[in-house]
Amino acid sequence: MKLPPVLDFIANPVLATFVVALLLLQWCFPLRRQHFTLLRRLVRNYVFSIPGFVVVRLAMLPIPFAVAVSAQRHHVGLLNCLGLHGWIVGVVGFVLLDYAYWWWHWANHMVPFFWRFHNVHHTDLDMDVTTAARFHFGEIFFSIGFLSVVLLVFGITPLIFIIFFIVFESAVCFHHSNWRLSIRIERILNWVIVTPRMHGIHHSIVQRETNSNWGTIFCWWDKLHRTLRRDIPQDAITIGVAAYRDERELTFGKLLKLPFGKQREWRLPGGQVPDRASQNANALAE
Ligand SMILES: [Zn+2]
Repeated sequence: MKLPPVLDFIANPVLATFVVALLLLQWCFPLRRQHFTLLRRLVRNYVFSIPGFVVVRLAMLPIPFAVAVSAQRHHVGLLNCLGLHGWIVGVVGFVLLDYAYWWWHWANHMVPFFWRFHNVHHTDLDMDVTTAARFHFGEIFFSIGFLSVVLLVFGITPLIFIIFFIVFESAVCFHHSNWRLSIRIERILNWVIVTPRMHGIHHSIVQRETNSNWGTIFCWWDKLHRTLRRDIPQDAITIGVAAYRDERELTFGKLLKLPFGKQREWRLPGGQVPDRASQNANALAE
């Protein structure tokens, strides 16, 4: 099944421009102090992302797209059967896909087999827009099955799937960026969408904090499931996974092999379990 040319010729260049803009913005207005140079992070995370990009372009997009086309043609799936107005089908389909992705992200943390792969993304010792590309190709490969089932069951149209994918990728780049927005503006944005400070808490070495803020586009799902955590100031966050703190263990080859070896407990190399008291504040902390 051929993907619409708009994806390669318009959406991808627009996304690439957005990434360059975020790189500049986080360079000029940094949110968290970084430990490694941008050039080093850029090379490591983007080189690591190449197999993942290949899987996205050759399988993660075409296979679910073909499933959505077939579901629409044969009137399979919830939204294809209800006979609702086109724009209602579009809005509901878009929101449902984001909610389904909340569950997928939850499963990537809670199911030990999936965590082996998602762990690679979280081992980044700094977080910025390049982290948005640091996904093990295995995690992307498994998401093909998840996406295909969701598109089939809910009857998401191929057009909504493509629009969702473009917005989803932009949202992932935005909330991973190290761009310091004014706290007032970010608090307003965080009524609706996942923002860099909110997602920064998800990348903390404190496990309770990592196991929160699973949203991608909308922050509502974390409110709904009481997994929203906004009380940690960004200065207080150490980014990464407690047991993987040595960058010599996080090279290209070792990251590719990481899911297939023995997984370490969530402890610092000295044996301590990082923790901190919860503040119970509802407003997004600076
Ligand atoms: Zn995660």
